[in-house]
Amino acid sequence: MRVLEQLEPSRVLRYFEDLCAIPHGSGHTKAISDYCVRFAKDHGLSCRQDGANNVIIVKEAAPGYESAPTVILQGHLDMVCEKIPGCTIDMEKEGLCLTVDGDLVRAEGTTLGSDDGIAVAMALAVLDDDDISHPRLEVVLTTDEEIGMLGAAALDTASMEGRIMLNLDSEEEGVFIVGCAGGVTAECNLPVERREERAATWAITVDGLTGGHSGSEIDKGRAMSNLLMGRVLYALREAGVRLVSVEGGLKDNAISRTTTAEVTCQDAGALSKIVADMEEVLQREYAKTDPNLSVRWRQNEVHDVSLMTEKSTAAAVCMLACFPKGVQVMSREIPGLVQTSLNLGILRTEPTRVTASFCVRSSVKSQKRMLVERLMCLMENLGGTVRCSGDYPAWEYEEKSPLRELMTEVFAAQYGHPPRVEVMHSGVECGLLSDKLPGLDCVSFGPELRDIHTPRENMSLSSVRRTWALTLEVLRRLR
Ligand SMILES: [Zn+2]
Repeated sequence: MRVLEQLEPSRVLRYFEDLCAIPHGSGHTKAISDYCVRFAKDHGLSCRQDGANNVIIVKEAAPGYESAPTVILQGHLDMVCEKIPGCTIDMEKEGLCLTVDGDLVRAEGTTLGSDDGIAVAMALAVLDDDDISHPRLEVVLTTDEEIGMLGAAALDTASMEGRIMLNLDSEEEGVFIVGCAGGVTAECNLPVERREERAATWAITVDGLTGGHSGSEIDKGRAMSNLLMGRVLYALREAGVRLVSVEGGLKDNAISRTTTAEVTCQDAGALSKIVADMEEVLQREYAKTDPNLSVRWRQNEVHDVSLMTEKSTAAAVCMLACFPKGVQVMSREIPGLVQTSLNLGILRTEPTRVTASFCVRSSVKSQKRMLVERLMCLMENLGGTVRCSGDYPAWEYEEKSPLRELMTEVFAAQYGHPPRVEVMHSGVECGLLSDKLPGLDCVSFGPELRDIHTPRENMSLSSVRRTWALTLEVLRRLR
């Protein structure tokens, strides 16, 4: 049974529901990509699918728009798959279970993928309707945005004519995004040496942190468990600790919420006292942002253990204690905008090394470089290395943007007040695409989506209606 059947805008919601029936988590986009190719064939539209499963569909201009410049409609095909404990849906094989609750659409027990399925649905609805007024359209649907914008990075734009782009991957209605930070993943590797011993170990855990997104929430001043562990371990030198391992965090773009270190120690009394003292200190420092913060220890039985040498332990603790944290520079041009930041998202220990994976962001290219160099400098001195990957450029704010002006005018007429126009600190594909399409004039917007990337994700139907109307009017005026 179709859940969104009777609701408006019916074409958009019909496609949205179709897309929700196809599993399309990041890394599993072949099926949804093929669906879009089939759609294009069924509608007699020219279409190109590449090896990364990106799809570009072209529709010629509506009558009267033949001389208007091409417009790009863009969104991403993949979604973040998250579900609540106990949910039995296999998100690699099964579709979502949509429910409507007043104005909100949700998926039972899982993420909804309105980020960014609603963009794909709107684009297909435009392509499907010959009564809509629009210039020649290039619909660009990318893959694996959520795991590092891999599709957009791989996209060959040589055949693309468009230099005006509507990106539908923003989730706050009434906000136009017109610039964003660039980023890079910097993986710090510290080689370690070990000796086999028989000893009791202690597990020290920093837990209960709030966490959050390393782009949009880096300015909230929240604690980062991976870095707090550095402080705890530094303090624990007095108890004569040696490291076995230190691990924390799940994604490099998420603020780490829990970190555990396994250590041996010479003075158990000192260890428990230092851990208790550090808990008190950190709870006081982070009372506002992380009210459930805890630092605890647990003793393990005597067992065979591969211990880092004193020298390797000291290097690992120094590394963790010295890593820079969070916001580094605020923008002087745009009040409240974080210009440069970094987040130690993932900390892992292997037999021969400790790795720390950072998400580095900046809207200024040279400052992104500066932070990577700071990490290199530290790692070189400790005998380690830094490996960079997934580098993507910033989307720089353009003083002059005819598209932004037009959209602001259309928005103000429709809503009775102007939109908020913002630059943001987290990445969107517009950065990569404006790098590949010189002179691109681009605005990112979209309907109201809440709690994206969590099983609470929901989409406001009334805001989809308003955003759809806005999109159609902007297309009509682009001649
Ligand atoms: Zn998205």
